[in-house]
Amino acid sequence: MVRLSKDDIARLRADLPPEVDAIAFHEGTEPPGCSPLNAEKRDGIYHCRVCGEALFSSAAKYESGSGWPSFFEPLSAEAVGTKRDFKLILPRTEFHCANCGAHGGHVFRDGRRPPASAGARTDGCWTFDRRRRSNTPSPLP
Ligand SMILES: [Zn+2]
Repeated sequence: MVRLSKDDIARLRADLPPEVDAIAFHEGTEPPGCSPLNAEKRDGIYHCRVCGEALFSSAAKYESGSGWPSFFEPLSAEAVGTKRDFKLILPRTEFHCANCGAHGGHVFRDGRRPPASAGARTDGCWTFDRRRRSNTPSPLP
């Protein structure tokens, strides 16, 4: 479920660089290891790069070894939506911003969490920005 209207999303997309739009709205994947957020250790909130929705807390961030910023859980169940992704041989669960639909990454189980828990690997990691608790749109690169 996406909360913003198609017109609102179109306005946000018009300001995105093409490479950002390709990942956010065509489920592209940023190569592992290139996000500056991998090294981010400060307290804060990670926001959707497109619409500014607060998605993850630094309190839930951990090092998964995947090369992408990873989180145990989103800030709230309402912050993200999910769907099945069949781009690889095995189906995966893609997650996205529940507000604008921007691709955020994939849900996975890496064995570092209790079996009942899944992590969120943000392979669309550039869609997140570190902010304090505000919900304003992120600046573009
Ligand atoms: Zn969003």
